[in-house]
Amino acid sequence: MLEKVLIANRGEIALRVLRACKELGIKTVAVHSTADRDLKHVRLADEAVCIGPPPSAQSYLDVPSIISAAELTNADAIHPGYGFLSENADFAEQVEKSGFMFIGPTADTIRLMGDKVSAKQQMTRTGVPTVPGSEGALPDDPDEVMRIAREIGFPVIVKAAAGGGGRGMRVVHNEEVLLSSIQVTQSEAQAAFGSPVVYMEKFLQRPRHVEIQVLADGQGNAVHLGDRDCSLQRRHQKVIEEAPAPGIDDTLRNEIGDACVKACLDMGYRGAGTFEFLFEDNAFYFIEMNTRVQVEHPVTEMISGVDIVREQLLIAGGAPLSIKQENVSLTGHSIECRINAEDPRTFMPSPGTIKTFHAPGGHGVRVDSHIYSGYTVPPHYDSLIGKLITYADTREGALVKMRQALDELVVEGIRTNAALHRELVTDSSFMAGGVSIHYLESKLEHER
Ligand code: ADP
Repeated sequence: MLEKVLIANRGEIALRVLRACKELGIKTVAVHSTADRDLKHVRLADEAVCIGPPPSAQSYLDVPSIISAAELTNADAIHPGYGFLSENADFAEQVEKSGFMFIGPTADTIRLMGDKVSAKQQMTRTGVPTVPGSEGALPDDPDEVMRIAREIGFPVIVKAAAGGGGRGMRVVHNEEVLLSSIQVTQSEAQAAFGSPVVYMEKFLQRPRHVEIQVLADGQGNAVHLGDRDCSLQRRHQKVIEEAPAPGIDDTLRNEIGDACVKACLDMGYRGAGTFEFLFEDNAFYFIEMNTRVQVEHPVTEMISGVDIVREQLLIAGGAPLSIKQENVSLTGHSIECRINAEDPRTFMPSPGTIKTFHAPGGHGVRVDSHIYSGYTVPPHYDSLIGKLITYADTREGALVKMRQALDELVVEGIRTNAALHRELVTDSSFMAGGVSIHYLESKLEHER
């Protein structure tokens, strides 16, 4: 069992990790920038260490400072949360070389999944369906490239192997621009990610984003906790997520979940992870794996009853997975709205001091947030200030609770996207379930 965990993150996820540690009797170390002294988890942690000035590069991304803080406080493990260093294989390696446990998979696994070409090859090997496309990196021979594209069929998408955050991708609609588009993507990939390697796959026109949550202990045990639909996105940023994904039958869900479990076992995966898929015409196509806890993990917790962060901590402590697949039972429906400090129309960030905050509550309502009245949202970081999560027996019930929760929510002093959420939870297409990843952007375009 771990004794002391350093939380290498901030905001709501740092608080989420702190709460799970406290429940398990694990001591906590908060690390924070000078802009984050007043964060809730910094106040609640057993120890706090200031690791640098506000810019992330000099604090939350500064590996030597974080490792020094772990040494100074005698922590035995580091939880990276999401974002920041959570999927940085070099960081994971540094952490373990310095004698600490990295709460996540091994550096080698992060590396394998961080490269989209090797990730896709790993999936193919273990029977997880992928988007039809080039077998690996695109070859240099232009005739060969053209042959691959024709075989896939236009439109195709050219993607950087090292890409991330929705960058390093280009859709190609016809043969005339194929080779020039590949060249541009290669040089962009080189500039942005330090590698020119690109691959090609079929461009799916109206897919949904559906992902599978897994837990594995690296000791031969793994389970999946069903799926989540995260299709409501703007600029590749998820806005609302839900579990289970509406309209997908249990047989298919379990089939794909089992394939993910098999992939985990095959690569000796350790920790929590998410397999992301595009879902079109009732078929799943793997696009990438996130080797960390995700923002939207609570919706899965609500329908499974499993505390995912607690499991991360137990696995890192060396315990074999306590859950068996046959004991996983998914019931009811859960929805999450991401509340951001931003203008609901222009989406410009809106940092500043929160004068008043009233959190919604009641049966089936969960609020994961670090904010409080008088808290100042700094301008330096992601604009997520909290997550509103509801749970009910049915999707309709979870939506009713979400409408009520959004009506109760009061955040004064800064702007938030709550008004956008109020609109979305009464939108007839969203209410019907199963909209594509383009739905939100096209809705916004038409209305504004
Ligand atoms: P990143 O690591 O940058 O998030 P992903 O591979 O997850 O990259 O792709 C990000 C997004 O790009 C997907 O959610 C989807 O919207 C779009 N996308 C990626 N591959 C395809 C594809 N083959 N067809 C259609 N859209 C795609």
